[in-house]
Amino acid sequence: MSEKKAKDFFSEAEKLAIRDAIVAAEKNTSGEIRVHVENHCKNDAVKHAEKVFARLKMNQTAERNGVLFYLAVLDRTFVIYGDAGINEKVPADFWDSIRDQMLPLFKAQQFTQGLCTGIRLAGEKLEEHFPHQEDDKDELSNEVSFS
Ligand code: CA
Ligand code: CA
Repeated sequence: MSEKKAKDFFSEAEKLAIRDAIVAAEKNTSGEIRVHVENHCKNDAVKHAEKVFARLKMNQTAERNGVLFYLAVLDRTFVIYGDAGINEKVPADFWDSIRDQMLPLFKAQQFTQGLCTGIRLAGEKLEEHFPHQEDDKDELSNEVSFS
């Protein structure tokens, strides 16, 4: 199978499915979810995800409750990165169960389904700590981004 690079990794329909999953998840929570895709991640993946998080201005939400799903597709690297507002309220393994439910789908090459599952679970979990507010703003774009 040929390796697909970041920009072509998802079809238009798949990008819309991911966007719709984010929109649906953000109906339950004030948390802001994004998906960012790159080809390679040369350095420590978590540190790099933190940089991408800042570059996307995800560290500027009012409640510091942004969640980034970061993928480096050619390196098969995947990180779920949550902001300080979440991490001070939840146990350290908060993201692990989400990750554990996504990985089998990723291994089966079902990347869109894996992401949509992770996004849905993140929305449900975030709802407990950051319920959706009447006056909620969509602080960050729901579109998949690439670099
Ligand atoms: Ca919001
Ligand atoms: Ca959003």
